[in-house]
Amino acid sequence: PVYMDNHSTTRPDPRVVEAMLPYFGAIYGNAASASHRFGWEAAEGADRAREQVARALGAEPREIVFTSGATEANNLAIKGAAQAYQRRGKHVVTAAAEHKAVLDTVRRLGREGWEITVVPCDATGRVDAASILPVLRPDTVLVSVMAASNEVGTINPIREIGRICRERGVVFHTDATQAVGKIPIEVNDDHVDLLSLSAHKVYGPKGVGALYVRRRDPMVRLVPQMDGGGHERGMRSGTLPVPLVVGLGKALELAMEERDAESARLLVLRERLHRGIAGRVEGIRLNGHPTERLPGNLNLSFAYVDGEALMMAMRDVAVSSGAACTSVDPEPSHVLLAMGLDEDMARASLRFGLGRFTTEVEVDFAADAVAEAVERLRVHSAAWAF
Ligand code: PLP
Repeated sequence: PVYMDNHSTTRPDPRVVEAMLPYFGAIYGNAASASHRFGWEAAEGADRAREQVARALGAEPREIVFTSGATEANNLAIKGAAQAYQRRGKHVVTAAAEHKAVLDTVRRLGREGWEITVVPCDATGRVDAASILPVLRPDTVLVSVMAASNEVGTINPIREIGRICRERGVVFHTDATQAVGKIPIEVNDDHVDLLSLSAHKVYGPKGVGALYVRRRDPMVRLVPQMDGGGHERGMRSGTLPVPLVVGLGKALELAMEERDAESARLLVLRERLHRGIAGRVEGIRLNGHPTERLPGNLNLSFAYVDGEALMMAMRDVAVSSGAACTSVDPEPSHVLLAMGLDEDMARASLRFGLGRFTTEVEVDFAADAVAEAVERLRVHSAAWAF
């Protein structure tokens, strides 16, 4: 089958795998062992990776905290900041279309005595920057809004939201897991205080990510969520997984080098896929913003088609569906519902994630497969006959 689920995860780039290999073998020291060469060698690899990650964000290496991925980075950012600033206030703001790793973290704070405001998104999945200022209160300490949606690819105005937060002295966190290496992000220009990212969304290994933590103008405080040996400046204890960290660094270096050319290539492919389907199938709806969206994302709903059946019919094209994005959660996508879709249209949606290894041949194959599946399913749909 053709792989078009690059928002879920990506195939590791062979260049990333190659960079990691020595650290799975000969270079096995503990990066925290400061007294011998084995440790120094490992530390060199980790230091280089820290620089590569920092460079991708316009940050400084000492502002990067390695984590096990974006889920952990979001937890550390949100719980860590909420706890660190709780004497100033216990009000946290986030948005309806966030990833569960943000929403569920904020919900837990809500159960533990924090007050939560969830701002809505518009019909394209976008947070209006103007909706932030009215909900800020004297006791607001943290705003968390994602840079780009993992479901509909919509890009949020994080620079404007960051500016508003900075002016009001509120910490601004952005989950940039889907955005880093794909669209320009610069923590200083964008007024970002905390930023989460993950290696496996950018052709790196699974199980590693990072949190950017602003150290200057202003310095942001966090309460660590993992206590122990005091690694990562005390913010995340635990021996560094040096091979994974090296892979993260290499993955981001490559993504930055190739970002502009790759975005342009993906945009052409994405439009080709959209046209290929829209030219043959009626009754489709584009979910997400028409232009302010990740180049590799296409999210479509198909009227008068059963969502589960559509997903089943997509055997030859690996995509995700609004019907059951995870098997533990059979509810229709909370993001599509927040955008105002009804349950049927939310279920009958497909998310195509094009990536570095997607080819034109694959795009044409996918367009054919989708058109054929939808036509076949509609023959059985009574509603379509009207
Ligand atoms: N945030 C967003 C926007 C994501 O797309 C993902 C991916 O599933 C995550 C967080 C979780 O990332 P990880 O798998 O590194 O924990």
